[in-house]
Amino acid sequence: MADYQAPLEDMRFLLHDVFRLPDQWADMPELAEMSGDLADAILEEGGKVCAQVFAPINRSGDEIGCQWHDGDVTTPEGFKEAWKTFADAGWVGLGGAPEFGGQGVPKGLTVLFEEMQYATNSSLALYSVLTAGACLTLNAHGSEALKNTYLPPMYEGRWTGTMCLTEPHAGTDLGIIRTKAEPLDDNAYAISGTKIFITGGEHDLTENIVHLVLAKLPDAPPGPKGISLFVVPKYHVGEDGSAGERNAVHCGSIEHKMGIKASSTAVLNFDGATGYLVGEAHKGLGYMFTMMNYERLSIGLQGTGQADWSYQQALAYAKDRVQSRAADKSLRTGEAADPIIVHPDVRRMLLTQKAWVEAGRALAVYLGGQLDAVKYHPDTAIQERAAGRVALLTPVAKAFFTDRGLDCTVLAQQVFGGHGYVREWGMEQAVRDARIAQIYEGTNGIQAMDLIGRKVLANKGEWLQQFFADIRMDLEAVSSDRHRQKDDLVRVMTSVEDHVGRWLKSDDANLAGTQAYNLMELVGYVAYGWLWLRMASNDQAGQGKADTAGFYFAWLWPQVDTLVRRMECDSQAFMAPGL
Ligand SMILES: Cc1cc2nc3c(=O)[nH]c(=O)nc-3n(C[C@H](O)[C@H](O)[C@H](O)COP(=O)(O)OP(=O)(O)OC[C@H]3O[C@@H](n4cnc5c(N)ncnc54)[C@H](O)[C@@H]3O)c2cc1C
Repeated sequence: MADYQAPLEDMRFLLHDVFRLPDQWADMPELAEMSGDLADAILEEGGKVCAQVFAPINRSGDEIGCQWHDGDVTTPEGFKEAWKTFADAGWVGLGGAPEFGGQGVPKGLTVLFEEMQYATNSSLALYSVLTAGACLTLNAHGSEALKNTYLPPMYEGRWTGTMCLTEPHAGTDLGIIRTKAEPLDDNAYAISGTKIFITGGEHDLTENIVHLVLAKLPDAPPGPKGISLFVVPKYHVGEDGSAGERNAVHCGSIEHKMGIKASSTAVLNFDGATGYLVGEAHKGLGYMFTMMNYERLSIGLQGTGQADWSYQQALAYAKDRVQSRAADKSLRTGEAADPIIVHPDVRRMLLTQKAWVEAGRALAVYLGGQLDAVKYHPDTAIQERAAGRVALLTPVAKAFFTDRGLDCTVLAQQVFGGHGYVREWGMEQAVRDARIAQIYEGTNGIQAMDLIGRKVLANKGEWLQQFFADIRMDLEAVSSDRHRQKDDLVRVMTSVEDHVGRWLKSDDANLAGTQAYNLMELVGYVAYGWLWLRMASNDQAGQGKADTAGFYFAWLWPQVDTLVRRMECDSQAFMAPGL
């Protein structure tokens, strides 16, 4: 197995040259101290932690998995020590609020650290990113008392966080959850119900676990508008802030699953557990979306991270493995067989991975920069525009990154031939681990529905048009020798806008559902096309970027013609056939 190489050069190119985030940070008082040099140093150290602490226990973590005994869960050997090293160095609170002990590092940078965590050990990464997401939610919607109690130990990594939404009968449809919250005397609530599939719901890494739980109050209106959000700690918290007596929440079992085996996926039984209301009653689902949106981008990065790890492995293998003579005699080594990297079909697989990974990373940094503008930019007009962009692109990042993520791990596995199918090289674990990212945090189908319904049709296509208008403006700076690729992008954007206009006038109730996935993919292909042109035309781009952009447009982009044709398809095609 090749050692993980943090892709620092590409990351620096995106931060400094393509998006110039340090200049953007300088305009935001809260981020003014964040210099480009500091950003580079954080990335370099982050890369080391991932390579030296996360990567070495990825394989053994998969082999041993989490173990359940009488309600307790043991993480695989080495995880506790790794977590402590990671937490003690302050990485859990990297993007957290400084007033409660976080480091306040901008999202445009933390996305890259998340990518490296997922690349090297997705199971271990999940404990950390869920904690960061729970903190973000508490900080945005919790009372001062809740923030003071919970945020400091969570940022320190002494406690972790979870999100408890799913129930046996309620996954996508949270409006029908049954977990109840009964008011108690002292501003607290008794929480009762069963939550399933809770990531990090029980484990031995930390002193306490802080569950963010969706539940319904006795007077709750039916459906999603009747959901409230509660903090339920595994151990009650004493006056001095220490974890004390056990609360009435217990782990009934953990799932035996296809991948991410070192991430504990728990069934949690709440038997009148004491919980504390976050914000106002019945507004919990909206609050939870703070966490869900954070986790959606993060899970997208799981796709990109795992794709990059797999690509690195496949590239090293393809340079080393000799098999068959090169068709092009000038590439022959003179030995009986040449390294497989000389074969065009192997290059097809490698370049596909490279093109998806680097464009995905670029879109993540762009989106991170937009998230920072929403949070910190002093100009409210810029803030609002960025908020629309984030809303539009978050479901695309989640679904498009993770679909491409699985594609890449499978392609990388294919580069290894039969050796990719056996355990030794780690490729079959990568495929198993990457698969979940398409499913959890809202399935990719639900992301596509979110995009077409709430983010495009609900505002008459305004956010989409704004995004496309910005791309058109950006294309003016792209050199004229790329006019064909520019024209292609403009043609597709115009076609999407025309069809959205048509769909808006339709009274076909199933049309949005029929076109959802297609639209998500189209926006993904267009965004990546824009970013490839933007990267390739940057003064600092090497020949490698220009060549990979060429590959993207020659080989991957033509898929868009199929997607464009599919926009003609009406819901009859899906709903008429008997199943
Ligand atoms: C390993 C793992 C970890 C998880 N971690 C957590 C966690 O930490 N916290 C948590 O709360 N949950 C967690 N989940 C749950 C996860 O988020 C859900 O499994 C997921 O959201 C889908 O819900 P479901 O499994 O009930 O599927 P269902 O909702 O039953 O969906 C089944 C299928 O129907 C489709 N579908 C449903 N409704 C619609 C619709 N309206 N339109 C179109 N298609 C639709 C879905 O896309 C899917 O393909 C985890 C799950 C797993 C497997």
